[in-house]
Amino acid sequence: MTEQRAINGLAEMVAAGLVSPAQAPSLTPVEEAFRIRMTGAMRGRVLGVGDAVARQFVPEAAEMIIREEELADPIGDEVYSPVKGLTHRYPDRVILHVTKTCEVYCRFCFRREAVGDEGTLPDTDLVAALDYIALHPAIREVILTGGDPLVLSARRIKGLMDRLSMIAHVDQVRIHTRIPVVAPEKVTEALVAALRGARVWVVVHTNHAQEIGEAAEAALARLAEAGIPLLSQSVLLRGINDSVAALEELFRKLMRLRVKPYYLHHCDLAKGTGHFRTTIAEGKALMAGLRGRISGTLIPTYVLDIPGGYGKVPLVRDHAEPLGDGLWRITDWQGGHHLYRDPER
Ligand SMILES: *Cc1c(COP(=O)(O)O)cnc(C)c1O
Ligand code: SF4
Repeated sequence: MTEQRAINGLAEMVAAGLVSPAQAPSLTPVEEAFRIRMTGAMRGRVLGVGDAVARQFVPEAAEMIIREEELADPIGDEVYSPVKGLTHRYPDRVILHVTKTCEVYCRFCFRREAVGDEGTLPDTDLVAALDYIALHPAIREVILTGGDPLVLSARRIKGLMDRLSMIAHVDQVRIHTRIPVVAPEKVTEALVAALRGARVWVVVHTNHAQEIGEAAEAALARLAEAGIPLLSQSVLLRGINDSVAALEELFRKLMRLRVKPYYLHHCDLAKGTGHFRTTIAEGKALMAGLRGRISGTLIPTYVLDIPGGYGKVPLVRDHAEPLGDGLWRITDWQGGHHLYRDPER
C-alpha cells in the first residue's frame, strides 16, 4: 500500500474525495468552528465514504447543531485547574495537558474547543505545573493528555519522563494517546526508548477495529515488547461502534495486541456532537450484551464523565438488588434471578 498524505482542512477533504464539492459550502461554518485533520494512516483505513473510520474525522453539517445541554468544557477541565495546563480533580492524580495539538481531529472530541490552538505548553508553565506536582505529595499519578502528548518529539518526552522520575511520590505516569493507531510511524525506536524504564502506562484511544491496520499492530507490538503496559479507551459512537458485534471485534483485536480495554466512554456533551451520542440505556444494553459473551478480561468499564467537572462514574448494570435483612436478589448474565443471603455476623 502506498503511503498516503495527511489531510488538513475542508478543501483537502474535498480533494481526497471524502467530501463532495456540492456539500463543501455547507461545511464552511464547521471548519470555522472546529479543526479538520486526518492522518495518512487513517485515510488508508477508509474503505468507503461515510464508513466507521471516515465518519470519525470527516466533518458533517450536523456539527452545527448545538443542543441546549452541550457545553464548551463538558467535563469541567477548567473547574479544577490550579495552574495552567494542570487539572487536579481527584486527590491522588492530576492531568497534565502538555500540548493542545493532535494528529487527527475527531469530530466528537470532548475537548474540541480546547484542542488545536496553542500548541505545546510553554516551558515556564510546564515548570510551574511540575513544581505544583512536586509540592503535593498526595499526587501519585500524572496523566499526560492534551491534545495528544505523543505529538511531542521523543527528546521532549524523554526530558519530561526524566523530570517526573525525580519526583519521588509519583508512582506512575499515564499517557493517553491516539498516535499508535492514527500515526503509528511516530512510535519510533527513540520514542519507545524514552518510555522504556519509566513507570509509564500507555492508554490508546481507538474506537473501531477497522482503524487498526498492520502498521498500528506493529506500533503496539513495539510498545508491548518494551514492557510498557497497554490499556485502551474508546468512545461509544452512534452509527460507528454502537453494536455488540463492533465492540466485540474491537476488544478481541485489542486483546490479541496485548491491550486491555479500560474505559468505554459515554459520548460527552461537547458542542455539535449530538449525532454521535447514544442514550445511556443503549450503552448499558450493549455492555449487558458483552458480559458473558466475551471474556471478562476484554470488558472495559462503561463510564460517564458527569457534566460540570464532577468526575467519572461507572454506568453499570446493577446485578444485586437489596431486599433487606442481608437478602439480595442477584441477576446472572442471562437475566436469571437468584437469592443470596449474607451470613449473619
Ligand atoms: C479521567 C480523569 C482522570 C483519570 O481517571 P481514572 O478513573 O483514574 O482513569 C483523572 N483526572 C481527571 C481530571 C480526569 O478527567
Ligand atoms: S485525539 Fe483525543 S484530544 Fe485529539 S481530537 Fe481526538 S478525541 Fe480530541
